[in-house]
Amino acid sequence: MVCRACDDPPCAKVCPTGALNPREGGGVRLDITRCTGCGNCRDACIMGCVFWDDEINKPMICIHCGYCAKYCPHGVLRLETSKEGDYV
Ligand code: SF4
Ligand code: SF4
Ligand code: SF4
Repeated sequence: MVCRACDDPPCAKVCPTGALNPREGGGVRLDITRCTGCGNCRDACIMGCVFWDDEINKPMICIHCGYCAKYCPHGVLRLETSKEGDYV
């Protein structure tokens, strides 16, 4: 399960503290210092792509680094550049 970099991310809409904000090019950025660990974003993600760090009780949010795509042996994952020049 990989974040789909939503243009209008539902996970950010339900964040009560402004910790999760839409990112240019799609997806979201997490400011972990503002996160209370409420879990709203996990429940709201349409793809089930917000995983949870039980040790610190915070979400793990994809940063679209593309590292995973390099290791997919079947070509299922690919990092593409959007029109805006950001990664999606
Ligand atoms: S867990 Fe953190 S990032 Fe997610 S909705 Fe709650 S405060 Fe926002
Ligand atoms: S975490 Fe889920 S809802 Fe949020 S941008 Fe990624 S796929 Fe969309
Ligand atoms: S390796 Fe990078 S692109 Fe892949 S899921 Fe993790 S943070 Fe997202």
